[in-house]
Amino acid sequence: MTRPFELRDDLRDMPPYRAPQVDAAIRLNTNESPWPPPEGFLKDLAERIARLELNRYPDRESRALRDGLGARFSWPGDGVWVANGSNEIIQTLLLAFGGAGRSVMLFQPTYLMHGHIARVTATRIVERRVAEPWALDPEAVARVIGENEPAITFVCSPNNPTGTAQTLDVVRAALDARRGLVVVDEAYGEFGGDSATGLLGRHDRLVVVRSFSKSWRMAGARIGYLLALPWLVEAIQVARLPYHLSALTQACGEVAVRHAGAALSAVEEIVAERDRLAKELQRVRNVEVFTSAANFLLFRTPLEGTTLWRAIADRGVLVRDFSTMPGLERCLRVTVGTSEQNAAFVEALRGVLADAAEEE
Ligand code: PMP
Repeated sequence: MTRPFELRDDLRDMPPYRAPQVDAAIRLNTNESPWPPPEGFLKDLAERIARLELNRYPDRESRALRDGLGARFSWPGDGVWVANGSNEIIQTLLLAFGGAGRSVMLFQPTYLMHGHIARVTATRIVERRVAEPWALDPEAVARVIGENEPAITFVCSPNNPTGTAQTLDVVRAALDARRGLVVVDEAYGEFGGDSATGLLGRHDRLVVVRSFSKSWRMAGARIGYLLALPWLVEAIQVARLPYHLSALTQACGEVAVRHAGAALSAVEEIVAERDRLAKELQRVRNVEVFTSAANFLLFRTPLEGTTLWRAIADRGVLVRDFSTMPGLERCLRVTVGTSEQNAAFVEALRGVLADAAEEE
């Protein structure tokens, strides 16, 4: 479509971030929880919302929610910041600490939005390709940070889309390089791997980012948060919008914190389901499945990725195609769903692979 007015030069040829959506009965493409929030949550939320004064602006500081989240980590509310999804947290960090003349270090393949937000905020990207099976080497990480002096280094653990959990030695090495911030993206942290939250008190440049979208079963609520020392929370205020977190979102978050135990109790089941699904995929001929500490699995087959993705979608199951990402040739990612959804996915995959084998 022609535009009556052009975008910024550096954004002109950039596509917006969108997971391809097609109609499918079973959607295992965006790493949501297959289960709704816990029993009683919506009722409590409705009662809370009924008492809101929507004619007034919300608490600009989201105090109650930050204190409630901090308490879960024995961390002060002054060292917690909440936003509309962890994507907004990442955006705020890049607006505040990235931008013109600064760079961000990314270890590829990783979450696409880290690079996307870096571009939108005009932050220069320095990338290193990590070899399969995508475990970072602490010494190599320290070396590239030392050589490039990025303002922000992202460590995504468990990493999306590979599922790889990085060791805390990697995070420590990145911090010990003492160049800029180390942002550990733990959007999938509750599903596996060692959390960097235990390092928070000892490192003044560490930021841990987490999300309500996966383990908390609330992707629709758009809530994400960071944990860091209070100086950082104070510093990023310059880049946040006033009243960025609506009264509705804050209420939702506060009620969610009260129901956190019940919400997160489903994590164990997802992890068990993931491990079952991985074993089952290992039994499918010609499928290579990678170890995952998250609520999804990355797998590779001999078939061309996008063709396979479409064929699985034609059978009613939507997964995510990563086959065009460098290093992930012929790889797709499937979110762990209910046992029925996972079984339907395996059946669809087996069916497509069997058809392809017949055609040979
Ligand atoms: N980080 C990672 C690694 C993710 O995979 C995602 C969602 N796909 C996010 C952050 C953003 O999640 P949200 O904005 O829903 O919290």
